[in-house]
Amino acid sequence: MSGTAYRVCPRCGRPIDWIERRVVNGHVYYYAWHVITNENGQKRRKKCYLGPEKYDYANRVLATAGIQVKSLAHQLIDDKPLIASQLEDLVKAVEEKMAKTEMSAYTAQYLADRLQGLVDKLRQYAEERAKEEARVKGKLEAHKATSTQ
Ligand SMILES: [Zn+2]
Repeated sequence: MSGTAYRVCPRCGRPIDWIERRVVNGHVYYYAWHVITNENGQKRRKKCYLGPEKYDYANRVLATAGIQVKSLAHQLIDDKPLIASQLEDLVKAVEEKMAKTEMSAYTAQYLADRLQGLVDKLRQYAEERAKEEARVKGKLEAHKATSTQ
């Protein structure tokens, strides 16, 4: 669990002070811990459940469809947004189904149409977000420059 980009709790949005890996009856569960300081300077700890290392039963059932699910803990384990990790897994599953000709023409066409619409929206969204992020970054740098003078 390296990197800092996703060290923000996926449950509550607070910075994560440490991750607890708890083993119960051979199953691994993850918790994000936060140290919260109130206005009087008193500290308390709060934990957020991030899910198991593996959804054993669910993934055994889903394996017949070639799909697997991951818990929020994987966002930290894989050091990338869970939505990106799950999408990559779905892409692999679709490619495998095509390679084995396990997908109907109807399903393939449905997925292609659905994804085409999504790709167009994603490109537009990314362009707009990039402009907004650059604008906010510019404001922050202007603020830093004036506050250090
Ligand atoms: Zn949290």
